[in-house]
Amino acid sequence: MDMKEYHQKYYLDHKEKIKASAKQWKNNNPDKVMAHKIAQKIPLKKECGICKSKIGLERHHWRYDKPLLVATLCKPCHTIQHVKHFVGGNYDRR
Ligand SMILES: [Zn+2]
Ligand SMILES: [Zn+2]
Repeated sequence: MDMKEYHQKYYLDHKEKIKASAKQWKNNNPDKVMAHKIAQKIPLKKECGICKSKIGLERHHWRYDKPLLVATLCKPCHTIQHVKHFVGGNYDRR
C-alpha cells in the first residue's frame, strides 16, 4: 500500500470523525473561516514572499483579524512560519 492509498483508506475509515472535527474547528474559529473565504478572492503572487520559489505556492495569513493581509508562500516556507509563530497554539490550516 503506498502513502496515497493509505491516506485514502484512513480518510474513509475516519470520514465521520474528520468531518465532525472540521465542523467543530469551523464553529470554534469563525474569524479564520471568514479570513479564508476572503483570501480565496485574492490572487496568489507569482513567487514565494520569502525564498522566491515558484513551486507549491499557498496563501498565508499573518493575522486572522486582518483577512486581507495575505502572503504568498511556498509549502516549506509556509510550514516554517506556522512552526515559528503558532507553536504551542493551534497548528491550523493556513
Ligand atoms: Zn518559500
Ligand atoms: Zn499560514
